[in-house]
Amino acid sequence: MTDGPTYGFDTLQIHAGARPDPATGARQTPIYQTTGYVFRDADHAAALFNLQEVGFIYSRLTNPTIAVLQERIATLEGGVGGVCCSSGHAAQIMALFPLMGPGKNIVASTRLYGGTVTQFSHTIKRFGWSCTFVDFDDLDAVKAAINDDTRAVFGEAIANPGGYIMDVRAIADIADEAGIPLIVDNTTATPYLCRPIDLGATLVVHSTTKYLTGNGTVTGGCVVDSGKFDWSANDKFPSFSQPEPAYHGLKFHETFGNLAFTFHGIAIGLRDLGMTMNPQAAHYTLMGTETLSLRMDRHVENAAKLAEWLEKDERVDYVTYAGLKSSPYYERAAKVCPKGAGGLFTFAVKGGYDACVKLVNALEIFSHVANLGDTRSLIIHAASTTHRQLSAEQQEAAGAGASVVRVSIGTEDADDLIADLDQALSKASS
Ligand SMILES: *Cc1c(COP(=O)(O)O)cnc(C)c1O
Repeated sequence: MTDGPTYGFDTLQIHAGARPDPATGARQTPIYQTTGYVFRDADHAAALFNLQEVGFIYSRLTNPTIAVLQERIATLEGGVGGVCCSSGHAAQIMALFPLMGPGKNIVASTRLYGGTVTQFSHTIKRFGWSCTFVDFDDLDAVKAAINDDTRAVFGEAIANPGGYIMDVRAIADIADEAGIPLIVDNTTATPYLCRPIDLGATLVVHSTTKYLTGNGTVTGGCVVDSGKFDWSANDKFPSFSQPEPAYHGLKFHETFGNLAFTFHGIAIGLRDLGMTMNPQAAHYTLMGTETLSLRMDRHVENAAKLAEWLEKDERVDYVTYAGLKSSPYYERAAKVCPKGAGGLFTFAVKGGYDACVKLVNALEIFSHVANLGDTRSLIIHAASTTHRQLSAEQQEAAGAGASVVRVSIGTEDADDLIADLDQALSKASS
């Protein structure tokens, strides 16, 4: 199918990137379970290796099943190209890799997935990179944190675990003024609820492990490029603007224009870092994307029902869902993610740590799991698991205090989920 701008989201999530298999006519995208591809002749091989012709060489770089997924996610996000990776964390490194260098830094929101906080505060230092964390609700603080060595601004559209909403447009304007890209992690919102590129983001990263696959089967990630950033406007991004010695002095931006980031991601990033998605994972994720909007509508509907029910319950202290009128993010959510504030939120249980532990033990439909974005409802008590090593103050700052549980609301019957929470809350408060 040719992806015209006239097609709606529900059509694109099924068809974008896919076409009947040229060899067999197979309607569903085959799993191309192959590492290598036979060259037509020696000239064809040389042209592929010189990036003069686009084609398949070796599955660390490109694979037809993964190519469909890349095009599909990029289309749903409104970008020009995508690079799939082995996990969401791999996608984050792949996004930063061509932008950064020793001594360079990023400015990131304090409200991020816990694993991202660790990756940015410790692991990237080994590359000579660093990260300054700031409260993205304080725009002056974001501006003040950017210096001459800053190469990107990074935040989550709907931040895990609290469901905080980022003012993507305002942060994008700040990045723009500084001549650097804004990278948005759109994992918890998905392109159905939020389109960061429309709001000014340059790059979008995903953990496809979550809602895009949607059933907790495979890990994966993707970086989508808006194609809108001028990599040659200043001298900050030599990976794109300057000659690349590993390709005989080719300049990516000059040669590939608005596809510079995508080509670099495949020809350098995947080639040399090797954080490649496998074709089986791409298949599962392609299956997931076909029903994305249907699932997200139900996730949002159920999350809203449960959040409202919990907010009124005496055994509950507070609920942090941005879809609740009582949330300080309610109005911003309507602008940033007009189709709903997602399926993820936290709530605090009266009775603190012990009550939370009893609650997760007593639930029958909800699983106690360190994952999110599954059709199944999931719950985690961060203070006794993912945030166990942190001090009480650090736990509070992360929105993961001792009395707080995070839920990822699934697509089951809302009434069954409410009944499950009701019986477990009774056990927790007895
Ligand atoms: C899970 C997650 C990640 C990391 O993705 P993996 O696929 O687990 O590597 C990054 N950001 C957010 C918001 C996530 O939920």
